[in-house]
Amino acid sequence: MTEKIKDIFMKISDVIIENKKYLTELDSAIGDGDHGINMSRGFKKVKEKLSSNDYEKNSDLVKTVAMTLISTVGGAAGPLYGTAFLNVSKVIPEAEFDIDAAIEIGESAINGIQKRGKAEQGEKTMLDAIMPAVESLRESKEKNLELKDALEECKKAAEEGMKATIPMQATKGRASYLGERSKGHQDPGATSSYLIIKTIVDEINK
Ligand code: ADP
Ligand code: MG
Repeated sequence: MTEKIKDIFMKISDVIIENKKYLTELDSAIGDGDHGINMSRGFKKVKEKLSSNDYEKNSDLVKTVAMTLISTVGGAAGPLYGTAFLNVSKVIPEAEFDIDAAIEIGESAINGIQKRGKAEQGEKTMLDAIMPAVESLRESKEKNLELKDALEECKKAAEEGMKATIPMQATKGRASYLGERSKGHQDPGATSSYLIIKTIVDEINK
């Protein structure tokens, strides 16, 4: 399973690097225009690290991703994503992956982000893509959906959550300095979170 996890992170890195300009444009509207630059710098380093090392355990691999992001991304997003993946490294299964594991991974990522950033849903941050995605997984579990379908629903919820940040006023992070003027723009962090969730789902379900 380590190979699979490595493939997923290599793909996430490619997607973030491909979207460097887009994420930077979004951050130029309501922040300081560095989100794409920060994220692609971090994920370039993740690619380098993962391709030059072998990992016996998923937990070690994900921990490496987390530490790399913490030390290279910078900005608000670096420590937030880093802490999220550090928490994920503690719960990621080494063998069987099921909906319970997906929920636990999502919840641990949210806990990490909230511990560091103290944001709630509705404050126009990355949590507005991630929290609905994890909520959707819990609903799919209740409905006994197949893992594949549950993951597709999760991806849709993340996309809707990302789009729902457009009318929101930011009350956390740099965008909050704009007050009312932060309305009408999609949050860059919610966008990178959607891209990450989308890539994970597409890689697992392909
Ligand atoms: P900076 O704002 O320091 O330039 P980035 O541009 O890399 O950092 O990241 C900005 C993104 O970080 C925002 O779009 C938002 O989604 C996310 N963010 C900022 N503050 C918080 C927070 N307290 N909790 C969760 N996410 C946050
Ligand atoms: Mg920024």
